[in-house]
Amino acid sequence: MKVIITTPSFGKFHNGLIKRMEEKGCEVVKLIPYSREQMVEEIKNADAWIIGLEAADEDLLQYANQLKLIAKHGVGVDNIDIEAASARGIAVTNAPGTNNDAVADLAFGLMLSVARAIPEANHLVKRGGWGRFDGVSVWGKTLGVIGLGAIGRGVVKRGKGFNMHVLGYDVSPPSQEEVALSIERVSLKELLQTSDYISLHVPLNQYTKAMIGEDEFSLMKPNAILINTARGGIIDEKALYEALLARKIRGCGLDVFEQGPPVSSQLMGLENLVTTPHIGAYTNEAVQLTSEMSVENVYRLVNGETLKNVVNELKLV
Ligand code: NAD
Repeated sequence: MKVIITTPSFGKFHNGLIKRMEEKGCEVVKLIPYSREQMVEEIKNADAWIIGLEAADEDLLQYANQLKLIAKHGVGVDNIDIEAASARGIAVTNAPGTNNDAVADLAFGLMLSVARAIPEANHLVKRGGWGRFDGVSVWGKTLGVIGLGAIGRGVVKRGKGFNMHVLGYDVSPPSQEEVALSIERVSLKELLQTSDYISLHVPLNQYTKAMIGEDEFSLMKPNAILINTARGGIIDEKALYEALLARKIRGCGLDVFEQGPPVSSQLMGLENLVTTPHIGAYTNEAVQLTSEMSVENVYRLVNGETLKNVVNELKLV
């Protein structure tokens, strides 16, 4: 069974994970990084692909003659053409519940960073400077969480620890875990109008693309701080730039961008924006759990067992 690995973090915190795969009969081909031509060649006789943020598009999948599994080393599957994979009988799996605490920690870190200008303060002191930064409190404020899945609920828990009044918005009915947290559900409009901090935790898809745009910014409080650790594209970056420049909102923390790295983005010139390079899931603990869950599906495929966490609802035995 030939398994292609394209994500650099797979197995980073496991000694001998690749060796164990080989012992189980896998021929492991690591392509990090890879050219399109290389991938086209390698995918022709591959059985499984452990993928990170790389694009699995229709044009590439047309060469996947015997691919049975694309195992996402993470949660968001927006880089995979699910329709094209399903049409070719390829199961797409992900690893839910493995990196939610890591991402929730970072979302909260970004909230604190923007509220207290921690990155700028750090930068000033290290350059020999000294000065004051006017911050705003996080403690006791209103937190609006959009998307109450694993990560959103993690942010809610952290918010409650900071004595925040938590509001939530989601299109799905509340899960048992959500009910246990007693989150006050409100409309998106009310959440945007009343929250001091707004944190995004929805997947990127046709319904969430640009769900935060000019109209939504016009509803937010002038002191609002917006955090996106979900996916670039959920916020319309042009509208964000205008909102931050005109101080329609106080600030923003972004781990994700429409294009990464966002080298040519106007946003990079703004002082009320704090950024990180898509590191939400990158803690030792989360990467370890994610690798274990991704490889489990490869072993299941080897053993002819039913795959877990299939997002395109294909039943492979
Ligand atoms: P999840 O599936 O547990 O939760 C997503 C929630 O969003 C669900 O409750 C769903 O009902 C809700 N939702 C979907 N569409 C919505 C809409 N239009 N409006 C409101 N709610 C909607 O997923 P999760 O584990 O919480 O992850 C959320 C997203 O975070 C992922 O899809 C991924 O894109 C992103 N993510 C980012 C990183 C990172 O490194 N920054 C890491 C992991 C995940």
